Amino acid sequence: MRGKVYVIGLDGGTFDLLKPWMEAGRLPRLQAMTHNGVSGELESVVPPVTGPAWTSFITGKNPGKHGVFEFKLMDRNTYQYHVIDPQSRRGQSLWDLIGRHGGRAVVLNLPIIYPPEKVNGVMVSGFLTPSGRRDFVYPPEMLDEIEQKFGPYALYPPVPFFAATESDENIEQFLQGITHQLDYQFRVAQYLAEKVNPHFLMLHIHGGDLIGHWLWHLVDQAHPHYDPAAAEKHGAAIFEYFRRFDEAVGKLADGAGEDTTFLIVSDHGNGTIHTAIDLNNWLLEQGYIALKDTPATRLKYRMWKMGFSLEALLRKRWLRAGLGKLAKRIIKGGTESPLDPMRKGAGRAARLRLTYHDVDWPRTKAFCYASVFGQMIINVTGLWSQGCVSPGAEYRAIRDQLVRQLSQLRDPRTGQLVDGHTFLKDEVYRGSYMDDAPDMTFVPLHRGYLAGGYRFISNKIFFPMPLMTGFHRMNGLMLGTGPALRSGTTITGARIIDVCPTVLYLMGLPIPRDIDGEVLTDMVAEPFLKENVIEFAEAVDTEQATAATLTAEEEADIIGRLQSLGYL
Ligand SMILES: [Zn+2]
Repeated sequence: MRGKVYVIGLDGGTFDLLKPWMEAGRLPRLQAMTHNGVSGELESVVPPVTGPAWTSFITGKNPGKHGVFEFKLMDRNTYQYHVIDPQSRRGQSLWDLIGRHGGRAVVLNLPIIYPPEKVNGVMVSGFLTPSGRRDFVYPPEMLDEIEQKFGPYALYPPVPFFAATESDENIEQFLQGITHQLDYQFRVAQYLAEKVNPHFLMLHIHGGDLIGHWLWHLVDQAHPHYDPAAAEKHGAAIFEYFRRFDEAVGKLADGAGEDTTFLIVSDHGNGTIHTAIDLNNWLLEQGYIALKDTPATRLKYRMWKMGFSLEALLRKRWLRAGLGKLAKRIIKGGTESPLDPMRKGAGRAARLRLTYHDVDWPRTKAFCYASVFGQMIINVTGLWSQGCVSPGAEYRAIRDQLVRQLSQLRDPRTGQLVDGHTFLKDEVYRGSYMDDAPDMTFVPLHRGYLAGGYRFISNKIFFPMPLMTGFHRMNGLMLGTGPALRSGTTITGARIIDVCPTVLYLMGLPIPRDIDGEVLTDMVAEPFLKENVIEFAEAVDTEQATAATLTAEEEADIIGRLQSLGYL
């Protein structure tokens, strides 16, 4: 093992937010890293989403090879989805590769990992751990040791419902919650770094992304809902979060020693969103989704067109109940989805609502399965149990027609083109999981639109984005310092899949040939490059990771948490 590498994963971290503070000298450690080391944007995966992006980070592979395209995976037989777990991932992880060479690893709080893997070191799962479970640490006895020193493990971020639209008090509590979690998790990292003396340490920090989703209208003056008074009120606490991050990074880096390569990476950026686009409603309008031809479905459809939808009922209920009361109830309920009270309350009315049960799958040519990421599926015969589109010419015709129509999609309120980009699966993915890949992904994020497929909860195609005010962008970030890296160098063109092979190279380990990323030689100092050739090794088949055995309640709990955080 040639050297140690520490990586801090700042979820959703972007220079768009941090750079002005860095340049003003208010985040001195991050600023020093740009002077003494390398920095640059880090391109995420398509779509720029936490689950696939971190999986590409830890494997160095594109989603077509590791099989994680989203937080959920749709079953081609039932058209239902389940939440991903480590078993959904293929491809050796950084810590597998390091462990095989005798290296010790400490891996903390990555969102996609539960149950924890048996690493040569310590692993703590992230926020996809079902509530109440105590088996999120490996080795298991380490949990008591950590909690004796630091108190109950701060595993879950606070639920930010209505943080953006509700009281100042909620926003303050939310910021206090993520700041506590940040402090706690850095203290644990520091402790384990000293105790285990790992060759590789990785800590995932979640709060940056939550600020990105829920409080972006307080940091972006160009946001349509920018509120100067609220920005003034909460700006200091938002900055304080990143100041503590900066300080904690400094402490951990100092403890790691000068021979350690220290990286900060993010899985994607963040930016303003203002409008949601419901692609399923659009596909229904365009005739790609067919509904059953039964009296009941025809009635439900007519009622839905007239406005009898979950969203409309929810809105009325909020008005009746008073938004504040409902918000408090939801926040008290912890991980409950904002729609759950409505679902329960809807009771009899639910039977009259248009749902996925009304979809006539054998006549449906395309649908969107992701809630918020614009991923669309063409219902291909032989691949989907009720597919109706022949692979080949018919598939290509429908795909190309969809691309054309999406490129012409206009916001009816402004008449402006949405101007999203449609990524085709063959362009962005390759590998043995192509059958699981969405056929196309429509990403209009740069214009402030969040495209997704809901289950007819609203009868509108375009509607103002409820609750969330920011969402992901392709431009993550990377900062790095260490004896092997250049100083004062800005790098361009780095991709998140490049980090894994770069870390392996810096540690003196061979890079398996099936890794898609490339060593970021632009960030490596000349003498190091000259002395150390990049070595490759044959790919090793991974053993399948242990699946999480979750009860139905636990899976529902995780789905609720993902919804509450804005990921589903
Ligand atoms: Zn993320």
